[in-house]
Amino acid sequence: MLKVINPATEALVKELETDSVDSLKKRYDRAKLAQVEWAKRPFKERAQILSKFSELLLADVDRVAKDQSLETGKPISQAKGEVKSTPNRVKYFVENFESTLAPIEKESPGMREVVRYEPLGVIVNISAWNYPWFVGVNVFAPALLAGNAVLYKPSEFSPLTGKNIERLLHEAGVPKDCFQAVIGDGALGAALLDLPINGVFFTGSYGTGAKIAQKVASKMIRIQLELGGKDPVYICDDVDVKPVAEGTADGAFYNNGQSCCSVERIYVHEKVYDKYVENFVNTVKGFKMGDPLDESTYLGPLTRKAQIQVLKSQIQDAVKKGAKILTGGNEVKGKPGYFEPTVLVNVTNEMEVMREESFGPVIGIQKVSSDEEALALMNDTDYGLTAGVYTRDEKRAEKMLSQLNAGSAYWNCCDRVSPELPWTGRKHSGIGSTLSRLGIMAFVQPKGYHLRKP
Ligand code: NAD
Repeated sequence: MLKVINPATEALVKELETDSVDSLKKRYDRAKLAQVEWAKRPFKERAQILSKFSELLLADVDRVAKDQSLETGKPISQAKGEVKSTPNRVKYFVENFESTLAPIEKESPGMREVVRYEPLGVIVNISAWNYPWFVGVNVFAPALLAGNAVLYKPSEFSPLTGKNIERLLHEAGVPKDCFQAVIGDGALGAALLDLPINGVFFTGSYGTGAKIAQKVASKMIRIQLELGGKDPVYICDDVDVKPVAEGTADGAFYNNGQSCCSVERIYVHEKVYDKYVENFVNTVKGFKMGDPLDESTYLGPLTRKAQIQVLKSQIQDAVKKGAKILTGGNEVKGKPGYFEPTVLVNVTNEMEVMREESFGPVIGIQKVSSDEEALALMNDTDYGLTAGVYTRDEKRAEKMLSQLNAGSAYWNCCDRVSPELPWTGRKHSGIGSTLSRLGIMAFVQPKGYHLRKP
């Protein structure tokens, strides 16, 4: 049994039956059969079913957002925001699917050449807990639209959301065997990879992503990895400081800093540094911490208690090397799982807090004296998910954005994802893309037809 524990109260929310290696094999066999029939259906039918899923989800926001909040500690307003935005992504995929995969035909004397696309088959999706609706829909919507069957393993920290996704897809009309949520921990995730699957789509940490890549290497199957980040922003000397400080503080602390694209490092031009830091710290001190089920709560507990040790060790390392804590720095007394929002200054890129993903409410702010220095520091990382520049000067921004080695480049914004744009990481932030047209292509395989007329 998997015990679902509320990180805000440590109370047992529910116990769920877990899968076993044997049950996985049976699930796979059923999925393989069901996929063939699912792929034969006209695209319009599959699209109608996915659109129905969105309708059902919107009618069920309160219930599913509460489940998500109970299992992860995500503030209820943020959980509702995520759930309500999930149908926008379904809509993007439904509306752009056919045009993205329209057959390409070329006629030359005696010869016709055609490209058509086929589903991959049975794919595995191993997922993270921090945005389980978003990272889920990025995979199941295009995968199902393309005619694949999906074995979906939600994180052991968000299995109720995994079950809700499964329930609503089935209610909408996805055949039961075409989408199956499997419940279990990392060992079960590893066992899924032993099945004769046709693709693996993973969202999670670099460490787990690397293990998965090694494990499936000899299978020669489609693999996509959406991994962590150490995402920097740079604040130039020409900005309106207060709103930029407020916006970037939100980018660092929303969802308790547990977003792959959270702002994780801040570089500020020396001319606006003092004012920026003052406004940033004031904003952070105004964040309301409390019961995740209270609509006005902005900061809840960390989802995984183990992360507290990581945060403490990053802070200790930084202080030992000369950093100063301006606010926070400790666990909240009498509230297990809660960590004070923490702002560090006098940080350098030699400190863990500026190199390793914090994935929590801790941020380092560093003073720089030029765009060139900022650019070098921003690119000095093993990760490459997002990076942003704040300036009034579009040309200055464009010049910097083009030189940033990251999959998403932000001008005057941060912590942002759009269905229209590829969501993609470089270096240790992963391989492949979800969302956008590339996130549709990811779930099909092309076949080139060479057709010579007799
Ligand atoms: P994690 O790597 O601990 O776990 C992710 C999933 O992998 C879970 O379902 C887990 O059960 C499973 N797993 C663990 N070991 C496994 C193994 N050996 N084989 C197969 N599966 C295994 O990550 P997490 O704590 O769930 O998520 C946080 C991480 O995810 C952060 O690094 C965050 O940045 C990243 N993330 C990235 C994106 C993105 O789009 N790039 C989005 C969300 C989260």
